[in-house]
Amino acid sequence: MPIAIVGAGLSGCVIAHELADAGFQCEVFESRDHIGGNCHTQRDPDTGVMVHTYGPHIFHTDKADVWAYISRFLEMVPYQHRVKATVKGEVYSLPVNLHTINQFFHKAMRPDEARAFIQALAEPMENPQTFEQQALAFVGKDLYEAFFKGYTTKQWGMAPDQLPASILKRLPLRFNYDDSYFNHPWIAIPKEGYTPLFEKLLDHDNIHVHLNHPFTPAQAKDFEHVFYSGPLDAWFDYRHGRLLYRTLDFEKQILTDTQDYQGIAVMNYPDANIPYTRITEHKHFAPWEQDRHRGTVIYTEFSRHCEENDIPYYPVRLAQGQTQLEAYQTLARETEGVTFIGRLGTFQYLDMDVTIDQALKTVHTFIQQH
Ligand code: UDP
Repeated sequence: MPIAIVGAGLSGCVIAHELADAGFQCEVFESRDHIGGNCHTQRDPDTGVMVHTYGPHIFHTDKADVWAYISRFLEMVPYQHRVKATVKGEVYSLPVNLHTINQFFHKAMRPDEARAFIQALAEPMENPQTFEQQALAFVGKDLYEAFFKGYTTKQWGMAPDQLPASILKRLPLRFNYDDSYFNHPWIAIPKEGYTPLFEKLLDHDNIHVHLNHPFTPAQAKDFEHVFYSGPLDAWFDYRHGRLLYRTLDFEKQILTDTQDYQGIAVMNYPDANIPYTRITEHKHFAPWEQDRHRGTVIYTEFSRHCEENDIPYYPVRLAQGQTQLEAYQTLARETEGVTFIGRLGTFQYLDMDVTIDQALKTVHTFIQQH
């Protein structure tokens, strides 16, 4: 019997590829009309800009084996990801670094002075649990309110004292002028976008792809095993209620009267009175091809609660009270013949490199056992 892979995103495609290489027959079921999940990219025909259809995806990793894996399929172009934030009409550098601190407090401190200055403002706490506690312990009230409170409330749809500290731990705090958004040694964008990765992963005699084809648990009996990357609660028909996901809306604009709208790929808008979280200008992800663009494409990003027919982007984990999630995790563990994978299937806020890493480990364990 073949193996079913539900979802042609990063987890599903890596797993299908590895299984196919090991001799398993794979049927990939994708409910949308394209592969690549939310990593899908497509060149805009009017401007020639490579658009990250579901918002910005920058590949970054510190895992040498994951970097080697993706580089087998794609030509990865080294990329420096920088992000700015517009706060109350002024533009600052992110992640919070010495430039941000000096500009915000109208000072010209050296690293040690800034460290001592922030230490005096910070509200130290042993083992912070919530996003807010972590932020106050990290940078103090003023920087927290300017850069994190509004953005986080808009992005997650709830107050930062309800959210886990782990979300903020994604971001560095630096007492030098390094403004690289990520700390990782490999930061890159694929030369022709991400879609070719999925095409290559799925291009195998042992893989058959079914687009526009939702998969229901009742179909599982026709397969030796199911790898499921859809929403965890959906598999169990929401029997413990709905888990919270955030979805994104993008207001898309194609501008032909300018070659450069904002001078950077991502501009964040942490102010609470601005309804969107950030604006992405996609051409800046591919600086090597900018001479060929005819204008520019921008996405203004709005986050909201994910309703039944929306595309889920972010699983919302809470600082406390995860009993509903735990109930689903127990069900998942007890479900024989199904492995839950990826951001939605495991209900985790995973970056692309961690997704690939987890998918490879999961599938190699499976292959060893079968
Ligand atoms: N964040 C924030 N202000 C910013 C950028 C990020 O408060 O200007 C917080 C916010 O809660 C966000 C989290 O940090 O969800 C992680 O940010 P990241 O840039 O990693 O988000 P992603 O690109 O994955 O949406």
